[in-house]
Amino acid sequence: MKTLIKLEENPNINMVGKIYEFIDPTKVYIPILTNLTFRKNDYIYKNNYYSNYISSISGYVSGSKKIYLNNKYIDSLEITNDFKENSHIKRRKKKITNREELIENLKRFYLFDLINKLDSNKSNLIISCVDEEEYTINEFMRLSNNYDEILMTIDFLSKILKIKNITLAIKNTNAKSIKNVKSIIGSFPNIKIVLLPDNYLIGLKTNLCEFLNLKEEDSLLFTTNEIYDLYTTSIKFKDITEKYLTISGDALAKSFLINVKLGTSLNEIIKKYCKIKDKEYDIFLNGYLSGIKVLKKEDIIITKEINTIVINKKNTNCETECINCGACYKICPKDINPKRCFFNKTINSKCIGCGLCNYICPANIDLKRVVKGDMYEEKEN
Ligand code: SF4
Ligand code: SF4
Repeated sequence: MKTLIKLEENPNINMVGKIYEFIDPTKVYIPILTNLTFRKNDYIYKNNYYSNYISSISGYVSGSKKIYLNNKYIDSLEITNDFKENSHIKRRKKKITNREELIENLKRFYLFDLINKLDSNKSNLIISCVDEEEYTINEFMRLSNNYDEILMTIDFLSKILKIKNITLAIKNTNAKSIKNVKSIIGSFPNIKIVLLPDNYLIGLKTNLCEFLNLKEEDSLLFTTNEIYDLYTTSIKFKDITEKYLTISGDALAKSFLINVKLGTSLNEIIKKYCKIKDKEYDIFLNGYLSGIKVLKKEDIIITKEINTIVINKKNTNCETECINCGACYKICPKDINPKRCFFNKTINSKCIGCGLCNYICPANIDLKRVVKGDMYEEKEN
């Protein structure tokens, strides 16, 4: 493993402990990936799925718009909330007792990422409470607020999968705040808590397994929010219509965690909850280092793939000429030569988009965008 680094702290970020709730948006948007046809004023029930995306509210179709999702523009349906939360779905009530039943149940919620993880036999179960990006608290706050449900679901999962070696991995910076977890962990003797150094990319499966001295191919890794999703869908048999979103950055008067309905427009969240101090700022989706820069906040809706929004003062450091220092190559965890890719304009499929090359480059060259193949800005210009 390459030596992992601790990221520099930003003294201008003011993180508040309070969790905001925004579960009554006036509109939500549902990405439409197939040829579904809707007319204005069609009624949409809460909890209905349309091409794998859920309607998190009930209401009427009031329009459509293009949104930016997973590196491309796609159509979405605009639903105006009737604030009735009408749902007509009947979910399973019978307790899940084996892997097949669990997978079958997860299919009803389109949780294919989780299903893929459950598809093979492993001997170690790792639950990661690591928020990789600085000033992101989704995983940690989920554990702090729902420790009962999380521990119960880890226990449920280990019994279903017949795994005895279970590790709950937490960054040492969060150790002091997990008193509640420690107070009931005795009831779950199979679960071992391990504290991790506060280094960037420690939560990557390869790095975590190496740190824990476990074979990667024998290990199954879930985040605490994924465990909470399992709890919601497979113990409570409810749909996932809300999610945690961290909004942080040095252009904000305060950074915070917010619970939002899936499909809410980023613009509506920013207007309602963000006090932006600086006139000129940049918005990044899913983190400053590993995320992408947002061109138009009106194009973004909150889907299950989005965890963090960073709103930072506009970067005024200009790009200068490469000085051939080699730092980008030395730091890349995937042994890519980002400088070479940048100048040859080639994508490297091994790139995990961690952003360390950009972070270290003294010439402020945006290497990651080319290596990872994120052409969002170029498409727009
Ligand atoms: S963003 Fe890609 S190229 Fe840059 S350091 Fe990370 S893995 Fe390497
Ligand atoms: S880190 Fe920046 S300046 Fe150094 S070799 Fe890479 S691209 Fe050039």
